[in-house]
Amino acid sequence: MAHRQFFVGGNWKSNGTQASVRELIEQVLNPTQIDFARVQVVVAPVSIHLQFARSLLKPEISVSAQNCSLTGPGAFTGEVAAEQIIDLGLSWTILGHSERRTLYGETDDVVSKKVNRALAHGLSVIACFGENLQEREANVTLDVVARQLAALKEGITDWSKVVLAYEPVWAIGTGRNATPEQAQEVHAMIRNWLGTNVSAEVAAHTRVIYGGSVTDQNAAQLIAQPDVDGFLVGGASLKPAFKVILEATN
Ligand code: PGA
Repeated sequence: MAHRQFFVGGNWKSNGTQASVRELIEQVLNPTQIDFARVQVVVAPVSIHLQFARSLLKPEISVSAQNCSLTGPGAFTGEVAAEQIIDLGLSWTILGHSERRTLYGETDDVVSKKVNRALAHGLSVIACFGENLQEREANVTLDVVARQLAALKEGITDWSKVVLAYEPVWAIGTGRNATPEQAQEVHAMIRNWLGTNVSAEVAAHTRVIYGGSVTDQNAAQLIAQPDVDGFLVGGASLKPAFKVILEATN
C-alpha cells in the first residue's frame, strides 16, 4: 500500500488581522515549494478571514473553518453553520479542539454530533482529542483517548473525510511537545483502536496527525514516526517556521 498522504494543518486560532494574514500568505505560504501530492496543506483562519485568506492563497492550499455549529442556519446568534462554510466553497472544518472543549464546554457528545452534522453537509473534518496533564500523570491517557474515539465514532459516517488530530492538552501552546516516542505510542494505539473498532481498512487509511507545540525544531523527528501522518500546528503556523514544518514532510 502506498503511504498515506501526509497532512499539515495550520490552526491560526483567534489571531491575525487582514494585514498579518496577507503577509503570512504572501511571504510564507505561497512561496513554499513542496510536493502537494505528498502532503495536503490546510490552514484555518478566524471565520471572518476565511474568504479573504481563500482569495489570496494558492489553490494547492485549502482553507478550513476552526469550528462549526451544531445547528443549521437560523436564529443562532454568533454561530456559523456547515452550510455556510460549504457556500463559501470551502470543504474543511476543525472540530473538538481542546480550547473548544475546555473553554466553551464542548463535551464528547457535542463534538460527535457536530462531526456528524458537518459530514452530512459535505465538509471534511479535522477531529481533535487528547488527554490533559492530570490524565497523563494518572496513566489513563490510552483510556481517555479510547473514550474520545468511541464518542467520535458515533458521529462519523464517512471515515475517508476525517483526519484524526491527537493533541495532548499539556502540549498545546506550552512549548512542551510530546516526544516522538510519546506521540508514536498514542498514534499506534489509535490505529490499533481503529482496526479493532472500525475496520482494518480505516485503520490503514486514516491520517492520524499530532498537535501540540510542533515547531521547526521537532517536526522532522515527529514525522519520522511510522504512525505520525502530519501535524496540526498552532503558534508556529503563524511564523516562517511553518515553511520548515511543511518541508519536513517532503
Ligand atoms: P500549538 O497549538 O502548536 O500552539 O501548541 C496546537 C493546536 O492547538 O492545534
